[in-house]
Amino acid sequence: MNLKSPQSSPVINAMTVDVEDYFQVAAFEDCIHRQDWGHWPVRVEANTRRVLELFEGHDVHATFFILGWVAERFPALMREIAAAGHEVASHGFGHERITTLSRAAFSEGVVRTKHMLEDLTGTAVRGYRAPSYSVGPTTLWAYEALREAGYDYSSSIVPIRHDLYGMPEAPRFAFFTKHEGMLEIPVTTMRMWNRNWPCGGGGYFRLLPYALFRRGLRRVNRRESRSGVFYFHPWEVDPDQPRVPGVTTKNRVRHYLNLARTAPRIEQLVRDFRFDRMDKVFLAPGHADYPVVTLQPDAPTAHQGGISHARPFG
Ligand SMILES: [Zn+2]
Repeated sequence: MNLKSPQSSPVINAMTVDVEDYFQVAAFEDCIHRQDWGHWPVRVEANTRRVLELFEGHDVHATFFILGWVAERFPALMREIAAAGHEVASHGFGHERITTLSRAAFSEGVVRTKHMLEDLTGTAVRGYRAPSYSVGPTTLWAYEALREAGYDYSSSIVPIRHDLYGMPEAPRFAFFTKHEGMLEIPVTTMRMWNRNWPCGGGGYFRLLPYALFRRGLRRVNRRESRSGVFYFHPWEVDPDQPRVPGVTTKNRVRHYLNLARTAPRIEQLVRDFRFDRMDKVFLAPGHADYPVVTLQPDAPTAHQGGISHARPFG
């Protein structure tokens, strides 16, 4: 029998939004060249407002990881996000996967975006999320660059196997990278049958039955007593977005599946679970100590044995 303590309060999860437009996603990079972005109708501003309304209606505060490209074009929207009580964080400038950038180009983008968002909103930008979760064994230098740029945390790893991203051997929950000295807060996975399963949003949230998704996050909250990190994009609540021609079947399914269902599902999700901003959930003074983990470059391993000692974050 499983008795719940009467004092036990529900675990609070982090709600996050990656603010970019539909034509900037990795799944379309072979069909839409960067220099043609300006030819596509911009929908990110209206879609982000829709997300803000949804959150306001349910009294949810979230972290918005925003592309510098979007911030530069929609400064008023940046101020609205901050004024509504959300955390403003960085998604880099131009949505290049880190694997395609030099360290200098990466640093330039994360510094530029941080300063731009801070100037626009008057609040410190502490968090960063890599485009397409592209921090991996060959790009661990990105953590050093983020620390040098003044970021306090990253949420750039999904510890699953996936064709576009993923670092399946990385820890499932928040940890400090030993050599680079950065706090990494991975997107949530569920542990079952000796492997990690996606449980943090994205295409899986639209693909899987909602009840299955809910069961996974509940398991993380109740059995493991851990906070989850959930993410989605403003274009995922926009079923009327222009269809991009020439996309492979796999990417077409991945991008367009169940778009009309996303907003109602997110409303259900925020009714079923408690959510707050990343900084409130993970960076509050006195919060749990996070382990220090050695991530191995060029080999996707970060075994338990790599944990050397706990270090408080506050
Ligand atoms: Zn993105």
